Amino acid sequence: MIQRLCIIGVGLIGGSLARALRQAGACEEIVGAGRDPAHLQQAVDLGVIDRYETDIAAAARDADMVFVSVPVGAMAAVFGALKDSLSDSAVLTDGGSAKGSVIAAAEQAFGQVPAQFVPGHPIAGIERSGVSASIPDLYRDRRVILTPLPLTDSGAIARVRAMWEATGATVTEMDPLHHDEVLAATSHLPHVLAFALVESLARLHDKREIFEYAAGGFRDFTRIASGDPDMWRDICLANADAILAMIERFSTDLQVLADAVRDHDSDKLQEIFTAAKQARDGFANTQLAESE
Ligand code: NAP
Repeated sequence: MIQRLCIIGVGLIGGSLARALRQAGACEEIVGAGRDPAHLQQAVDLGVIDRYETDIAAAARDADMVFVSVPVGAMAAVFGALKDSLSDSAVLTDGGSAKGSVIAAAEQAFGQVPAQFVPGHPIAGIERSGVSASIPDLYRDRRVILTPLPLTDSGAIARVRAMWEATGATVTEMDPLHHDEVLAATSHLPHVLAFALVESLARLHDKREIFEYAAGGFRDFTRIASGDPDMWRDICLANADAILAMIERFSTDLQVLADAVRDHDSDKLQEIFTAAKQARDGFANTQLAESE
């Protein structure tokens, strides 16, 4: 049971955590913090948080759990504001989509990464942002990855794990660098490709006709290009090395495909599409089995 949860950044991710913990009866009081009092008042009106502070240090004072869910580029400033207000017994955790940069930001702000800081990342989301998009079931049956360091306090890890499990999520642990490489491949590259494709098509002269005749395939492939541009800009900057490595690898593979199209290389096209279908079907079957 969390006595006082402080959520810094009461948007989709922070608001959904608050709603889930409330629904589970796992939290006594929730205090929000952020930049815009109108957004925070909306969170109070929606019953997501009990009260708010616009001063981050004041919001975190006396909290036993502090969850930071601002865009990753804003983490350093938030940690700086928390530096002198976090009590020794409080646990600090976050939901940022890249972990190496967030850990570096904590180290920079606190002088060294605090033992009470448990970096984390819920693998859940939708294309909308802000507290009005938050839902209590966002994390149900989803994964949350924690990326503690060797110095991270085991009691703090256990408390963060229990918090996420109360939302219905499954918690796993991973090395931060490995997390960033895996997420670059499974989440960041697909988002970059969706943004690039839609932006490229939107610049075509006859774009109105293209979007008018776009069907299910276009919708499926591009849904994630409706994600928040600020958030995705920050993720690309924060996980630049791993994302760049994936883009370069993918560019090489795309060139192989382009060569096959240009050369009318039927066997190569068949080989690539068959391998892709087998991999995608295998993934879909695993997902189905896990959800049963
Ligand atoms: P969001 O809905 O836009 O919420 C972000 C919140 O942070 C807003 O309440 C915003 O409120 C506040 N904020 C922004 N900049 C701030 C700053 N400089 N100082 C203090 N508060 C600030 O975004 P989100 O989708 O919840 O994402 C939050 C974090 O979760 C990000 O780190 C993201 O990488 C991660 N994440 C997102 C997803 C996803 O699919 N959306 C999934 C997993 C993890 P104000 O504008 O009022 O300040």
